[in-house]
Amino acid sequence: MAESIETDILIVGAGIAGVGLAAELAPFYDVLVIEQESTAAYHSTGRSVAIFIRNYGNDVIRALNRASLPLFDKPDPMLFPHPLLSPRGQLFVADENGVAQHRALLDEADGLRSISVDEALALMPALRPERIAAAAYEHDAQDIDVGALHQGWLRKARASGARVMTDAALWGAERVRGRWCVKTRQGRIVAGTIVNAAGAWADAVARACAVAPLGIQPMRRSVAVLPAPAGHDIRAWPATDDSAEGWYCKPDGGKLFVSPAEEIPVEAHDAYVDDMVLAEGLHRFESAVDYPVVRVERSWAGLRSFAPDRTPVVGFSAGGIWRPDGAGAVPAGGRTDPAGRALRGPGVHRAGHGAGPFHEVSTRGRSSPMTTMRASSPKGLLHRLTSGADRIVVRAAARREPDLLGTALCVLAFACTAARAEMLAYGQ
Ligand SMILES: Cc1cc2nc3c(=O)[nH]c(=O)nc-3n(C[C@H](O)[C@H](O)[C@H](O)COP(=O)(O)OP(=O)(O)OC[C@H]3O[C@@H](n4cnc5c(N)ncnc54)[C@H](O)[C@@H]3O)c2cc1C
Repeated sequence: MAESIETDILIVGAGIAGVGLAAELAPFYDVLVIEQESTAAYHSTGRSVAIFIRNYGNDVIRALNRASLPLFDKPDPMLFPHPLLSPRGQLFVADENGVAQHRALLDEADGLRSISVDEALALMPALRPERIAAAAYEHDAQDIDVGALHQGWLRKARASGARVMTDAALWGAERVRGRWCVKTRQGRIVAGTIVNAAGAWADAVARACAVAPLGIQPMRRSVAVLPAPAGHDIRAWPATDDSAEGWYCKPDGGKLFVSPAEEIPVEAHDAYVDDMVLAEGLHRFESAVDYPVVRVERSWAGLRSFAPDRTPVVGFSAGGIWRPDGAGAVPAGGRTDPAGRALRGPGVHRAGHGAGPFHEVSTRGRSSPMTTMRASSPKGLLHRLTSGADRIVVRAAARREPDLLGTALCVLAFACTAARAEMLAYGQ
């Protein structure tokens, strides 16, 4: 029988979630990333419209977006030699039918201000004034260089010793003597922990590992690339969204990306455009602007995947992983297992409890003086994130509260990613 590859942590999926996590964990763990395709970022990560917005998703997603800002403000120049964000702005417009949704958007938004029709037209002159019943503008929305972010993290992961295997679909996994024994297209892998960063395939990977799936639903969304309309310089146009989510558009490289903003539940697959859905979306866009859409240069579709409550999934399957082998928990400083090494990593420090089994994990925020909050459950931790704490302190007993400790470590690793992705880890 062929020899198996050994690793502490096996990350399934080389999209932005898997690669971002690999970059964070590789300095402390032996990390292997496997990807079913022949290139990384082939699915959702390579198909994004690449805008970074504050007012997207629920409170948890907004808090994670906020928490990721320091990465963009001061990116490591060795990994990211060029700015990852560039100014764009985001304009929301509503016609008569979309006013209620527009108001709801304004009510829950941060940094979004109502503007007049004239101001909206100054920002996006191709809009038809008679179709604008309400408008609002978010100045801080920015273009994000997803490719550079993904590549930078890939470089960091590799430089720290992580291995990345492509054409290596996970086929199945089972627990054997306290380790995961994983079957892949490239052979057998033995891992301490599996991280499921498989995007649209998250539930399929869960089933293949005999772990209960969480109901992660892939939703198709498509994008058309249109030539810039004659007579318009589109370079400075903001991203512009119909507040009722009938379409959105964004200039990119001299072209205009237009999406029908659809959310069609589908099975995980290599997504492709439904021509009728695209045509209907382009019609809605065309009704809002003062020129006809005559040509689509190219188009693509991708999958956005959501848990039932639309909140990112971070945590461990029953049992947790942060349990050292052998009897009794020992402090992180004395542990030689991978979790112990992770606990000694940057941003994580041990409480002054001598040989006690407690570990203190803190997430460091953006400003000083710091607001410190305490969290005593995984849910509380996520809640603290949403309440704008600068520093969250978690005291968890590795044996009794592995889920809390695990969630805290995941948040630490995850807080600096911009991915709105699902990630969960399976452990012993
Ligand atoms: C049209 C569109 C527009 C978007 N616009 C934006 C935007 O403007 N801003 C924004 O922030 N986000 C946007 N997103 C969302 C963003 O792209 C995703 O949230 C993000 O890329 C998800 O990353 P991921 O790593 O979870 O998934 P993916 O990039 O899909 O990575 C998962 C990887 O797992 C691999 N995999 C699956 N099963 C297995 C297996 N069994 N074995 C090995 N590998 C496996 C897959 O091949 C895949 O490469 C958009 C998405 C779409 C589709």
